[in-house]
Amino acid sequence: MAERITDFDDFNMTADMIFLTIRLTPNHRPITRLPRLLLCCCCALPLLTACATPMGQAHAGIAKNSTATPTIATPKPSVQTVTATLDNGLKIVVRPDHRAPVVMTQVWYKVGSVDEPIDQTGLSHALEHMMFKGTAKVPNGELSRIVSKFGGSQNAFTSNHFTGYYQLYPANRLALALELEADRMKNLILTAEDFTPEMQVIKEERRQRTDDNPQARAHEKFRMLAFPTSSSRYPVIGHMDSLERMPLDALKIWYQTWYHPNNAVVVIVGDVQPAQAIAEVKRYFAEIPAGTVPKRVNTAERQQFGQRHLELTLPIQVPSLMMAFNVPTLGSGTPDSAAHDAYALALLAAVLDGGLSARLEQRLVREQRILTAVSSGYNPFERGSGLFSVSAIPADGQTHQSAQMAILNEIERLKTEPITADELARVKAGYLADLIYNQDSISSQARWIGSLEVAGLDHRLLDQLPERLSQISVTQLQDAAKRYLVAENRSSMFITPEAAQTAATPNMAQASAGAQP
Ligand SMILES: [Zn+2]
Repeated sequence: MAERITDFDDFNMTADMIFLTIRLTPNHRPITRLPRLLLCCCCALPLLTACATPMGQAHAGIAKNSTATPTIATPKPSVQTVTATLDNGLKIVVRPDHRAPVVMTQVWYKVGSVDEPIDQTGLSHALEHMMFKGTAKVPNGELSRIVSKFGGSQNAFTSNHFTGYYQLYPANRLALALELEADRMKNLILTAEDFTPEMQVIKEERRQRTDDNPQARAHEKFRMLAFPTSSSRYPVIGHMDSLERMPLDALKIWYQTWYHPNNAVVVIVGDVQPAQAIAEVKRYFAEIPAGTVPKRVNTAERQQFGQRHLELTLPIQVPSLMMAFNVPTLGSGTPDSAAHDAYALALLAAVLDGGLSARLEQRLVREQRILTAVSSGYNPFERGSGLFSVSAIPADGQTHQSAQMAILNEIERLKTEPITADELARVKAGYLADLIYNQDSISSQARWIGSLEVAGLDHRLLDQLPERLSQISVTQLQDAAKRYLVAENRSSMFITPEAAQTAATPNMAQASAGAQP
């Protein structure tokens, strides 16, 4: 049957997905949303899996789609952000924001699905759920009661590269948030009594959000295609067979291995004084000893792996296609000079899909009517390799092949026809404006800071972006397109609705790998 996704938060299953509202022209087919492989240029925030609420209740995401137009805010100068590192290695970043008497406290751990063994996918996310199951001081169920009693809210998120927890309170409850987080960083109790039913919750979560959701299934398969040589291919929630046989001991080991102060970052944003906030962090976390943290896996994808293509038939309403190129990121561990490539790729994504005047929308949707909807994205603020992605819905009468060819032609133009200075200036302005909008709430500021820090990038990067982007030239954009947006780096997937496939070729296998378009 037709699949209709109506709400972003209903579908933010894994951190490696992002779904954006596709701009629709009046003659478009019913509203849908396309899975995006990465972050759009105008919301370069990691999408977080907001998951483990206590008692296995429904989740509420902290990551919101940023396509809504927020009010313009002035970026906070870096001088207002204060950092400290405790003797045990815990990093603290405090950003005062006195506009409202609230405080957001986030604890980020540098561990995610990319760190998991191939036969134990889903460990990080499962542990995230179990982190709500209590300690000797705060038994199971007490955490949510305490948070509610003091007017707070809480949740957690797991991604490919990190796991995080947050609590939002009135500003005078910062100490409470810190006490609770310090307690479960060290004293979590993992029991079979809690674990067995929680794994049922997690498996149901996977069934509802991935297995029973064709677009999510397609996205999961696409990541396997797009990341052929690294653990970035692993689904954050884990494969079902891995969840079926996940032992409690594996979670205990995961907790003991990664949950140390020297593998964490505490981010505090809100109505606080930095010195006081840092003193409070020290009060609760300083006594936790540093641990031995393993070296994290190298998630750099080998470039030029070769072109890959997959075709799927799924119970969806309209055909769609996904395309992505393996590209570097700011967190790839490449030399500083390579950072220019990441910024150039971010601007290239904005040239293609940075608003209604962007090229793909203007030319392929509105003028040529080859596509019904299209989106492009790239997140430079990541660890390891990234993806420069394009997703699209072919218009009536168009094939997957013709739609893909039209998109590829536009990408070729990026290489052969330098964009004008005016267009580049407009794209830079729009990109920066969206970044600023994204820093408006204390939640998003904390999220930005945390995501940069756990990616090995300095949070001050945010404030430096205008200068960094201003240095990127038309030639650098063209060079980046020539170097990275090439067939050898490309994965593509065509998704056909079951009904259409049955009518056309009733005996065709549901999926075929390896064919080229
Ligand atoms: Zn979850």
